[in-house]
Amino acid sequence: MSDLTPFGKYFLPGPTEVPHDVLRAMVRPVMGHRSSEVSELMGEMQGRLSKLFVTERPVLVSTSSATGMMEAAITNLTRKRVLCLSCGAFSHRFYDIAQATGRGADVLQAEWGQPNRPEALREALASAAGTYDLVTVVHSESSTGVLNPLADLAAVAHEFDDVLIAVDTVSSLAGAPVLTDEWALDFVLTGSQKALAIPPGLAFAAASERAMDRAREVENRGFYFDLLKFEKNLTERRQTPNTPAVSLLFALDHQLRSLLAEGLEARWARHAAMAERTYRWVDELAGRTGEDYRVLAPEGYRSPCVTSIMVPEGRTGPEVMGAAARHGFTIATGYGKLKETSFRIGHMGEHTLAELEELLQALDGEL
Ligand SMILES: *Cc1c(COP(=O)(O)O)cnc(C)c1O
Repeated sequence: MSDLTPFGKYFLPGPTEVPHDVLRAMVRPVMGHRSSEVSELMGEMQGRLSKLFVTERPVLVSTSSATGMMEAAITNLTRKRVLCLSCGAFSHRFYDIAQATGRGADVLQAEWGQPNRPEALREALASAAGTYDLVTVVHSESSTGVLNPLADLAAVAHEFDDVLIAVDTVSSLAGAPVLTDEWALDFVLTGSQKALAIPPGLAFAAASERAMDRAREVENRGFYFDLLKFEKNLTERRQTPNTPAVSLLFALDHQLRSLLAEGLEARWARHAAMAERTYRWVDELAGRTGEDYRVLAPEGYRSPCVTSIMVPEGRTGPEVMGAAARHGFTIATGYGKLKETSFRIGHMGEHTLAELEELLQALDGEL
């Protein structure tokens, strides 16, 4: 335990900093995954996971990174063609998965830094009536800091018969409202290492009854990510299809308790406050230096969990990252094609406004 670094310096938009008590919760003997202890643990966690996903549905637990559950969405939920809403690197991944697994797919592209618009989705679905039976979307696009208007996009998808909507909430769930049942989201997936602040290695998904019915109609669902197997194991014996990362389940159990003790609404508010502070800081920085620093995502479409900040000419993303590092802080450069022209601050998980303030002050001294 002696080599644990002090908490509050690591602001990557994933993996996020894991609190020491969560790390310590993993230091327990492993147990057999067909044991009654595992069933008990999994069963107990179900209630809390459902609260977290704001759903009445079971929450499937996968030992994989979140991309595994993205693949499950594609391989289980389409028998016709999938329309992938893309506005950055992660949302585009659904399309790449569809290509790799031989599913017919098209991309509806929004410019990087812009959200996917409900009107554009309606037009695409209407003009190709009957073509698509699945829409994929990323809620919080971690490569740009955009928050998509999820409830509205889901409502549009449901205007069309036979169209399901699968949502990547990897960097939003537990940091921003995701109302699975109220918004009628058919498949909501997330990973352990972003706003949940658990180490990497687990993925979670809630599938609607419609989604499970769809999976039953799809023949080649694959083996490891067959949703029917996940649901059968969970409902019949509160277990997983294969050996789960048991140590991570201990971390999850511990973190679910703290998370619900804080309260979902309080947690959403804490994330919103950190995001607002970051936007204000960017404005102050631009004002003070007279240089063109700005938040990439437009107002009203900004993720409370990650902010992407464009740097003025003469500065680079890696340079700002280096400046933070001189003060012991870790932040990220821009993602992919935005690497040089932007940097990103992940303000999610267990971070507080006070820790964020220290980071921003350190950057102020450098910029
Ligand atoms: C990190 C991230 C992913 C990928 O998650 P893995 O756990 O690395 O598979 C997918 N989508 C979004 C929005 C992410 O932020």
